[in-house]
Amino acid sequence: MSGKLLIIGFGPGSVDHMTKRAREAIEESDIVIGYKTYIDLVSDLIGDKPIISTGMTEEVSRAQEAVKWAERGKKVAVISSGDAGVYGMAGLVYEVLIEKGWTKESGVEVEVIPGVSAINSCGALLGAPIMHDACTISLSDHLTPWTLIEKRIEAAAMADFVIALYNPKSGRRTRQIVEAQRILLRYRSPETPVGLVKSAYRARQQIVITDLEHMLEYEIGMLTTVIIGNSSTFVHDGMMITPRGYQRKYTLDALEQPLKPHERLRKEAEPWALDQVKAERVRRTAEAALQKIAVRQNEQQETFPDILELAVSPGVANKVLAPEQMIAIANIAGSDGKMMYTPDHYLKLEIPTANPDDVIAKLKEAGLIVAPIGDVLTVKACDFCDGEKTDAIPYAKQLHEQLNGLALPKELKLGFNGCGMACYGAVREDIGIVYRKGAFDLFLGGKTIGRNAHPGQLVAEGIPPHEIVPTVIRIIQEYKEHGHPNERFHKFFQRVKQVSGFVYQEANSKSKIEVPACGE
Ligand code: SF4
Repeated sequence: MSGKLLIIGFGPGSVDHMTKRAREAIEESDIVIGYKTYIDLVSDLIGDKPIISTGMTEEVSRAQEAVKWAERGKKVAVISSGDAGVYGMAGLVYEVLIEKGWTKESGVEVEVIPGVSAINSCGALLGAPIMHDACTISLSDHLTPWTLIEKRIEAAAMADFVIALYNPKSGRRTRQIVEAQRILLRYRSPETPVGLVKSAYRARQQIVITDLEHMLEYEIGMLTTVIIGNSSTFVHDGMMITPRGYQRKYTLDALEQPLKPHERLRKEAEPWALDQVKAERVRRTAEAALQKIAVRQNEQQETFPDILELAVSPGVANKVLAPEQMIAIANIAGSDGKMMYTPDHYLKLEIPTANPDDVIAKLKEAGLIVAPIGDVLTVKACDFCDGEKTDAIPYAKQLHEQLNGLALPKELKLGFNGCGMACYGAVREDIGIVYRKGAFDLFLGGKTIGRNAHPGQLVAEGIPPHEIVPTVIRIIQEYKEHGHPNERFHKFFQRVKQVSGFVYQEANSKSKIEVPACGE
């Protein structure tokens, strides 16, 4: 018997706003797969069907499980809130299928069931802000580079789209919404209406109508959708309304309209309509306007410099900052910059600048090590207190030189401890290296944070010093090449079962703990 994948968007959360087909599809399925919070929202419809629920960063494993069970002949409901094809599971399930050689004719049947996305549900709660051309932009830079998101915000702002910002903020991603506001203010009035809707049609629904200037004074979180009005949007009696343009063509309170249907779209009656004779002139005007915008952007770029984020430390195995270096960092950061101590053995700097190369050069001049932040490799070496432990320093430096700052599917910490005390916690990092009795022990797949934190698996003891650097480089190359986007190293090791010849072993404990909502 061939199975079927039912990829269901169940809307904002209440059964009243779910489509009939979505309800039927959940009811006719054999198994339901979804993020735990979503499972809870539709639990009444699921009844006693088997459920596979995972945490919020486990989308790839959910898609793989769904395909596996469908191939075994089951009808599998994969549920997403909103619409499954709008930042939902539909695309990912198709990607997993395609990787396995799926075609419509030869593979399992797939049905994508549409749902009400947040732009629609939040728009309805705010009044009628999505009455004209609109777009959605997710501010999550977990799977999309921030530079690309910035471009999209800028383009949408410039083109006067109504904009629905999805995933505006989370426990760790706090700066993106601030940056988005900054870009929007280049093109829109500070009074532009903004709607903030949290948990639309759910128990803890909250609606705020504010403006672009003041939007950050209100609570914005992972469950909030931010709707930015266009240049025509107005607020009336607590509702955001974007005119469609009828007022230009019709007298809204008159029974008899000034233009008959056959008179509309004639240039003498409706001069904004595009006619062929004027097309060339319009094109030239548009080009001139674009040039002006480009000039204005360059000017504004100087007024609103980008914020450079980077990691700074005094050395690979030296954690002592000289007073002169502290003074240099403070001067380079300036009064608008931020300096944050982190648990990752570096200072995180956020510096507004139009000239990042200059900032980096000055930090290096001060004898500091500078590295990028984000989904990159970071070497966390201990300070090699004294004595013969210093034997390991050259290998930590080699790893730092060759790998520190390398872009990877997800941030990766390479812990390096100079003796068997391992007091700097290398065994709890993604990859841990401990120098002991003139050789190295290697740990893979540690998970530093979360309630299910665990040390890495000891995969090798006594690796000769000359082999440790090439061994780690091989592991990192495999992860870089074969890791899924956003897949942490410990998940990768668990999935592929073997990295550079080191075999993954299942932990004894079978208990499974959900990732909390703030654990993005
Ligand atoms: S792990 Fe060993 S070498 Fe490193 S700081 Fe601790 S005691 Fe010193």
